[in-house]
Amino acid sequence: MPKILIVEDEVNVSSFIQKGLEEEGYFVDVAYDGALGLRFALTREYDLIVLDVVLPQMNGLEVCRRYREQSGYSVPVLMLTALGSTDDIVVGLDSGADDYLVKPFRFKELNARINAMLRRKSNAHTTPELKFADLVLNLDTITVTRSGREILLTSKEFRLLEFFMNNPRRVLSRTSIFENVWDANYDMNTNIVDVYIKYLRDKIDKDFNSKLIHTVIGMGYVLKEE
Ligand code: CA
Repeated sequence: MPKILIVEDEVNVSSFIQKGLEEEGYFVDVAYDGALGLRFALTREYDLIVLDVVLPQMNGLEVCRRYREQSGYSVPVLMLTALGSTDDIVVGLDSGADDYLVKPFRFKELNARINAMLRRKSNAHTTPELKFADLVLNLDTITVTRSGREILLTSKEFRLLEFFMNNPRRVLSRTSIFENVWDANYDMNTNIVDVYIKYLRDKIDKDFNSKLIHTVIGMGYVLKEE
């Protein structure tokens, strides 16, 4: 459940936002002044922060600036500004806010904005590429390159390599490889894992000086640099 911090001193506004977001399934914290808002933001983990500009103790622009200074840019901030205050918008975005919403707004608008920001955030975190040494596996285009050279794999070889690249430097037993790469209808009582490891090695290691897939005798296989 995403956690959202609301920093807003006007109780009617903050409780209206809180109620709506909780109904949408979010976990919500509310801080009623800027100093407390900053403390919550720095000490608790949130997925997004809704921050009003006009606040007692410390205004929202200052809260945002200090928050960005101390904690970086990973958590999106949605700034609430008063109608017509374009200066606030510019300064707000300068201070490190990701987006803004002009008051008064309808809950639907706020919710749509929050959903879009959380979506952007999660997209930014899921990279379609897995990299290990000079090996790159792209999950969008289903392509593999080593040292920039494209390597053609069958879909099973691709899944096998993906499993290795998601678990680099970990010794993977034949059983765990089998369970993660093959579906349950296959019979494990064959050397199918070893056969496919050989296929994969022939394609990604054979023509290169440094080998990446290594046998760990009696244990399984590991993706690592020599
Ligand atoms: Ca306010």
